[in-house]
Amino acid sequence: MLDVLQRTLRIPLQPVHCKVHRLRYGVPAVSLENQCLRDPVAGLGACGDWCLSSSIEGAFLSGMSMAGALLRHMTVDRPATTAFSNARSETTAG
Ligand SMILES: Cc1cc2nc3c(=O)[nH]c(=O)nc-3n(C[C@H](O)[C@H](O)[C@H](O)COP(=O)(O)OP(=O)(O)OC[C@H]3O[C@@H](n4cnc5c(N)ncnc54)[C@H](O)[C@@H]3O)c2cc1C
Repeated sequence: MLDVLQRTLRIPLQPVHCKVHRLRYGVPAVSLENQCLRDPVAGLGACGDWCLSSSIEGAFLSGMSMAGALLRHMTVDRPATTAFSNARSETTAG
């Protein structure tokens, strides 16, 4: 790597300290195809770079997907369910 860097920069390098660390488990080898994982019945969800792609962008998009899923659950899904059950109880009561 030092050779390549010297050739790229075209200057001789004499590092005082040189260390290479391989992060074996730092980056997901294979990402899922799901943007995030969510089980609305259990109330569980998971998101992160391992869902989409091993990058900040993948992590961000996965988090946005989870946020969207939660917002949908708290707004669109819930009032519809409540409205449905209200309509049912009105029908059965009257
Ligand atoms: C060395 C390195 C360099 C990188 N460089 C780049 C780059 O240049 N550009 C780029 O786009 N991406 C880069 N990445 C990838 C990028 O850092 C990740 O894709 C991104 O940080 C993933 O975000 P995340 O929120 O999914 O997970 P993380 O950032 O790993 O966040 C997970 C969080 O959960 C916490 N946590 C874990 N277990 C528990 C637990 N049991 N209880 C509570 N908290 C817990 C952790 O402490 C951490 O804060 C790099 C990664 C590494 C390792």
